[in-house]
Amino acid sequence: MPQTEPIIYPEIKVPSRILLGPGPSMADPRVLKAMSTPLVGHLDPEFVKVMDGIQELLRYVFQTENALTLPVSGTGTAAMEAAVANLIEPGDAVLVCVNGYFGRRIAEMAERYGAQVEIITRPWGEIFSAEEVDAALKARPAQIVAIVHAETSTGALQPLDEISRVVHQYGALFVVDAVTSLGGLPVRVDETGIDVCYSGAQKCLSATPGASPITFGPRAVEKIDARKTVVANWYLDMSLLKNYWGGQPRTYHHTAPISAYYGLYEALRLAAEEGLENRWARHRKNAEMLWQGIEELGLSMHVPLENRIPSLTTVRIPKDVDDLSIRKALLSEYNIEISGGFAELAGRVWRIGLMGYSSRAENVLLLLAALKKLLE
Ligand SMILES: *Cc1c(COP(=O)(O)O)cnc(C)c1O
Repeated sequence: MPQTEPIIYPEIKVPSRILLGPGPSMADPRVLKAMSTPLVGHLDPEFVKVMDGIQELLRYVFQTENALTLPVSGTGTAAMEAAVANLIEPGDAVLVCVNGYFGRRIAEMAERYGAQVEIITRPWGEIFSAEEVDAALKARPAQIVAIVHAETSTGALQPLDEISRVVHQYGALFVVDAVTSLGGLPVRVDETGIDVCYSGAQKCLSATPGASPITFGPRAVEKIDARKTVVANWYLDMSLLKNYWGGQPRTYHHTAPISAYYGLYEALRLAAEEGLENRWARHRKNAEMLWQGIEELGLSMHVPLENRIPSLTTVRIPKDVDDLSIRKALLSEYNIEISGGFAELAGRVWRIGLMGYSSRAENVLLLLAALKKLLE
């Protein structure tokens, strides 16, 4: 029998956690405030101004002049799917560099869109050399090469410039996942020659999950315009979405997640106010403080210094320490969230994020002090 009596549920009541995991980061209070702005219609002239602002600010954050730069409605995975779905036509040869969880996700998606996917792999925590990509493309040409800039599952930062040159020597398009890097460390789409770059809102931008930046360069747009088949994903089809984002007139595609866009707008305004260089320096400085403190506790990092992501650190868990009980105690006793490793790194590392608003000296000191107490 279905329930017919009124049901009384309590209000949502959650503590304000210190989020130092792989995402979400703590939303900036200004973002949360902006998100409580009253709704307007998704084609309201005032909302169109917000959309225009988001696009211009995104071009700044991505360091690009690409016209087709916008947030997709959904989390970082939706932006990943937008990149894959729009670029790939069935039968396309795609090379995916897999050195962690998210590279594998790109490869799985590409297969679902009918690509002939080849992967090259590195152990979790290591990075690819341009020679490896060159050898793979020599052995089997591809139209698209995809790589993850900052592998959140491993803590390894992938240099992009040389690989980008190699990819373009072979006439392929270069797709980069910048979900954990954008807004926290240098991502220069135009200078690096990235053809499609996407990110998320709840990592170094410190907005809430749900509106995810993506940018398509001229070569990518050319490939999309030359498609012989329609994009298999209606919701993420850029040829339709671009009419909402800049068509004359703008036309309805789906109702924009208005509040999420308010939040992203404010997060991008914050990034622009701080300035990218200052923001990158802040992430770096706080990460170095964390790394030094971790070493002083007698622990070590999983990734060597030169390949380490400032916004996401993997710390090796000592053999005699129980992963889960430390993380549980951090959460229940100190209100701090960090995360464990998964797959190859399950039980072997902690993942500590210092992203966006969470990247603050006081958070680093608090975490180090709490860890010290718990490890004693
Ligand atoms: C978090 C993350 C994603 C997925 O983003 P969601 O917002 O969880 O959908 C993709 N790639 C990388 C590198 C990430 O860190």
